Amino acid sequence: MPAPVSAGPEALAERVNGWFREHARELPWRESGCSPWGILVSEFMLQQTPVARVLPQWRAWLERWPRPADLAAVPPGEAVRAWNRLGYPRRALWLHACAVAITEMHGGEVPRDVDTLLALPGVGPYTARAVAAFAYGVRVPVVDTNVRRVIARAVNGHAEPGPPSTARDLAAMEALLPEHPLDARVFNAAAMELGAVACTARAPRCVDCPIADACAWRAAGYPAYDGPRRPVQKKYEGSDRHVRGLILRELRAAHAPVTDAGLEPLWDDRRQLARALDGLIADGLAVREGDGYALP
Ligand code: SF4
Repeated sequence: MPAPVSAGPEALAERVNGWFREHARELPWRESGCSPWGILVSEFMLQQTPVARVLPQWRAWLERWPRPADLAAVPPGEAVRAWNRLGYPRRALWLHACAVAITEMHGGEVPRDVDTLLALPGVGPYTARAVAAFAYGVRVPVVDTNVRRVIARAVNGHAEPGPPSTARDLAAMEALLPEHPLDARVFNAAAMELGAVACTARAPRCVDCPIADACAWRAAGYPAYDGPRRPVQKKYEGSDRHVRGLILRELRAAHAPVTDAGLEPLWDDRRQLARALDGLIADGLAVREGDGYALP
């Protein structure tokens, strides 16, 4: 266990940053030479997909499309094809639309301020702040699920953070954020890393935690969470998402439009198959082409 620290925000940030410098996972989008575009792509991919699955896809993506203009020059269907099985493929379309907007409106350079980033397709408050902070060192709080959990436990003494509130979550992180932009940048990444590898949702590893002796939840004896529960996620097997995934896999593999007859063997429930296909078309992930369907 580390020596006792005062629980002040500066001491917490210093501890967490020191731990991060020693123990952070080496990830290519954290390397100093990584371009803002590489960081933006990583943030899109990491939104709902674990690091291990993102790594090879991110490398392949950046090798093929090293600049936004490279991606903007191909049809959006190429992005959906290359997204492969990262899940939630609308992110591929958004990333493509983002590349087009960056190329056409920002001279091919990923913008650096949060408001301009927020105006890009598919870029929400988290991604805008993450790109501003990690790509450009802008001093803004960046809050993801991991950060929310670390703050809930270490600062507020609760097992879980409860429902998200952008204003409250940002204020809580702002209160801990070091003044110096360089330290703030490290702390944004470090708090996230702490939640991802030590202060995990199911089994926090407090013995490895650099702020264990200042953690309010630990000091209180790990009281159980008694706030509102998150809605239980629907099962993937048999869901419309599952069927959409099967159709997209078929469209990715095909080199010509796939007809209704070609899609029918994918799923027994015809109505669900039609619903999933309609959903893909409505979302712009598939288009009608001649007698069949293809990527956009
Ligand atoms: S001591 Fe344990 S619960 Fe508290 S912040 Fe560290 S890992 Fe999380």
